Amino acid sequence: MIILNQKRMLDTFLQLVQIDSESGNEKQMQDLIVRLLQEIGVRVYVDHAGKVAATNAQGNVIGFLPGTYKSSPFVLVSHLDTVSPGKNIFPVVKKDCVTSDGTTILGGDDKAGIALILEILRTLQEQKLPHPPIEVIFTLSEECGMTGSKNLAYAKIKGREGLVLDNEELCDLLVQGPAADTLEVWVKGLSAHAGVCPEKGISAVEVAAYALSQMKLGRVDKDTVTNFAVVQGGKAINVVTDAVYLKADARSLKEEKLEKQLAHIRACFDKAVKKYTKKIDGKICKPSVKMKVSKRYSSVHVPKNHPIVKAVLKAAQKQGITMHAVASGGGCDGNVLSGHGFTLPNLGVGVRGCHTVHEKLVLKEFYAAFYIVLETILSYKK
Ligand SMILES: [Zn+2]
Repeated sequence: MIILNQKRMLDTFLQLVQIDSESGNEKQMQDLIVRLLQEIGVRVYVDHAGKVAATNAQGNVIGFLPGTYKSSPFVLVSHLDTVSPGKNIFPVVKKDCVTSDGTTILGGDDKAGIALILEILRTLQEQKLPHPPIEVIFTLSEECGMTGSKNLAYAKIKGREGLVLDNEELCDLLVQGPAADTLEVWVKGLSAHAGVCPEKGISAVEVAAYALSQMKLGRVDKDTVTNFAVVQGGKAINVVTDAVYLKADARSLKEEKLEKQLAHIRACFDKAVKKYTKKIDGKICKPSVKMKVSKRYSSVHVPKNHPIVKAVLKAAQKQGITMHAVASGGGCDGNVLSGHGFTLPNLGVGVRGCHTVHEKLVLKEFYAAFYIVLETILSYKK
């Protein structure tokens, strides 16, 4: 019979949210987590991701608790940072939930996950439960582009399966997530006096507009979306604009569909270049398009019949929770780790309204999540 020390888990949560740790300012959190892990008896390593991420912290915190039986380690992931406004958080404990005082976020994203992981480690130790080795990863700067997980000391981590605890509602287990790229496009035309001789110019605005008019944008198909969000260019209304800069987000649950969409976007710009190529004073002049694609993160694809998914769903059922394995439209550390060969469904820990001052932690779900994670760990052997 496993007993959850509810009060201690809640107290840990309250302690954690009162430590300021907006992205870039995670040092105090990092130091506290290192100390708490060491007190529990976990071997701790802090990597050097802080050198790359713009933060005052040294790095991601990686912890290892040896197993009582042989298995590859079970991995648990949550992040140390929060969005803003996340300074001087004053948690208010109500009957069934915890909120902030309304002036800041609560920080349940993702300190509910951290508090839960710490309580799991304490419980395993105290109640002497037979368990596989556990590897915990607390990342930096998840909220500002996952720079922590992107620069994680992967060589220090042996496990490849486990759970990310960074989702809202407990009833949703995220098993699919999109791959995402950032696109930057520089369109170059030819300037000319717009009043006197516009025919001697090539408008980069028109080239870009024509290309965009030919493109599938928004919801491209059921798995794929594209958003041209930034358009910049032009100086004076009497000059044919010779340069336009565009920036877009493209993502898809299927990597091959994302590739196809990028090729489609390229083809539309090529078509525009052709259309706006013309002879000026007997010379062939053509606009040019430079496109840069930066990978933000990989897709997540955990099969719905994966043993961990099955174990989580089964444990949820025991808690009286109908859980579904679903797809997410967003990205988190799980996507980055997935790109490194990890299999990590993302479990909700009972948070609502993340990234707003209305954020709250639903205690019933927070406590149920503890049992679900613990049971999943205890059934793990590989
Ligand atoms: Zn989060």
